[in-house]
Amino acid sequence: MKNLNLVPFVSVDHMMKLVLETGIEPMLVGIADTIEADFKRWEHFDKTPRVAAHSPNGVIELMPTSDGDLYGFKYVNGHPVNMGKGLQTVTAFGVLSNVETGYPVLLSEMTLLTALRTAATSALVARYLAPEGARTMAMIGNGAQSEFQVLAFKAIAGITHLRLYDIDPIATDKCMENLKDSGLHLTRCASAQDAVEGAEIITTVTADKQYATILTDNMVGAGVHINAIGGDCPGKTELHRDILLRSSIFVEYPPQTRIEGELQQLPATHPVTELWQVMTGTAKGRTDPRQITLFDSVGFAIEDFSALRYVRDQLARTGLFQNLDMLADPDTPRDLYGMLLRAAG
Ligand code: NAD
Repeated sequence: MKNLNLVPFVSVDHMMKLVLETGIEPMLVGIADTIEADFKRWEHFDKTPRVAAHSPNGVIELMPTSDGDLYGFKYVNGHPVNMGKGLQTVTAFGVLSNVETGYPVLLSEMTLLTALRTAATSALVARYLAPEGARTMAMIGNGAQSEFQVLAFKAIAGITHLRLYDIDPIATDKCMENLKDSGLHLTRCASAQDAVEGAEIITTVTADKQYATILTDNMVGAGVHINAIGGDCPGKTELHRDILLRSSIFVEYPPQTRIEGELQQLPATHPVTELWQVMTGTAKGRTDPRQITLFDSVGFAIEDFSALRYVRDQLARTGLFQNLDMLADPDTPRDLYGMLLRAAG
């Protein structure tokens, strides 16, 4: 069998080892750098809103993109009810392929990698938009994504103080315990209102398949940066509409965010700024210390592509993968059936 037909597969176990051997903060920085590099060459990519299959309990989505050399896609679900069954809200896997041959070059778990890339994107965006010298972040929603978000904001955006709130105190217990050696100053808060007191950055990362109001207008003061992660599906939002009307809204890919983000609450003509333009310097980020900036995050395919590209670049150095016999390899390409006959003996 030629090596070309063996596809490197990064399992959950190998991904955990990669994170632990690299160190989570350096890995978040590495993924953020790769995302930033890819956002800066935005116009090279094929872009399309993700393809979503909705059901009463959640959504299953496919997220494709290509830069002409590599093609990537992620399969991801979002099922807020899963937590009650002892299952993850979000699970994922992804593929990178060589555009020239169409052959896959990487298959990877992406449940951990999604948490890493979402956090890396959030913190990267905050570096462009958060107020100068921001050190305190409120984090409302202390579930699976939360520690990744926090560590990315520490490593990339310089956060030193964290104010935590979740409607479920067990989630906050878990988060505080997991972050106790992070070097961050942690404060447990009694409500979302309490959590945002004195915070220059507010992250909302809750999961509920409905129009929720995690933040009301009176909770958001001048100059704050909001990192809104949990509103990422039609019918699923976290912010009161009035906050959006007072904010400068920054998005990944408008055709997708207008369907899935907080933006679904506003008319399709409402002005937004695309983040790739801020990163390339063709649009302005924060222009005023009193401005409210909002990253209306939904998660875009290029972030997954970048994360897979980062992982692929680590394979030779770490050896943290196994080869999968995924592609048929007959002795001559047209004799696929003959391969079967020879296998029969
Ligand atoms: P999770 O279910 O593990 O955690 C969600 C937490 O939110 C839970 O602890 C829950 O108790 C809490 N919560 C629910 N309602 C709340 C409220 N009103 N106030 C305070 N806390 C509340 O989910 P997760 O994997 O951490 O994902 C969180 C959200 O982020 C989901 O909505 C998911 O779809 C979204 N997400 C977005 C992206 C993106 O790129 N934007 C990527 C991954 C996940």
